[in-house]
Amino acid sequence: MQKVLQQLIELQGLDTRLDALTAKLGDLPETVKTLEKQIVNEEEQNKIRETSVEENEALVRRNSAKVEDLKSKIEKYKEQLFLVTTNREYDALTAEIEYNEEAIREAEDQIIQAEEENERLREALEQTEKNIGEMRSKLEEAKNSLEVTQKETEKEKAELEKKRKSLTAEIPRRYLSVYRRVRQARNGLAVVPLLRDACSGCHNRVIPQKRVDIYKKNQVVTCDFCGRFLYAAEDEEEE
Ligand SMILES: [Zn+2]
Repeated sequence: MQKVLQQLIELQGLDTRLDALTAKLGDLPETVKTLEKQIVNEEEQNKIRETSVEENEALVRRNSAKVEDLKSKIEKYKEQLFLVTTNREYDALTAEIEYNEEAIREAEDQIIQAEEENERLREALEQTEKNIGEMRSKLEEAKNSLEVTQKETEKEKAELEKKRKSLTAEIPRRYLSVYRRVRQARNGLAVVPLLRDACSGCHNRVIPQKRVDIYKKNQVVTCDFCGRFLYAAEDEEEE
């Protein structure tokens, strides 16, 4: 048989087995990646919430002090009211008191808003912490399963990859690039046997001249329909 065809058949065998080993891992690698990303994301969200809580607490402290300050000012103005002698002085003090009372209302409104917001933020923080905890245990589980499966397959995988490396070093580049392209486009299968006069990859009939070439085994033949390399299956050689 043509040497390159034999090599391609062997390469396909190695890749099919490697694909099967990868398939054994299932969606575990993806699950691990997704969970890790989600956890980082949720933790970032919570950090933002924590910062907001601190800012609100600072605002509450600031405004409470301000309210106390304004209240004592008002007390002083009220005491002064007893001492005024003119209407003008009286009006000025009353205006001052009203102005400060308004400032107190504003500061107190801000305190209420900040406290309400913090209540919501703390609920979200707590819920998110819970979610993160659940995700962490799922992640642990997925990581462990992945590790177990990888351990089971790593030896075989390493052997296959070693063989593959030395094999691909021998195959001429132009065949290798066709192989890669077809394999990628055709579900991982780039080299298939001829079965009952048809390509066993796409099931289209192969023209007689090509079939003759395949059985002669002295040249590399590809399917006109799917581009896969074709070879004669052992039990069909006698035809
Ligand atoms: Zn085909």
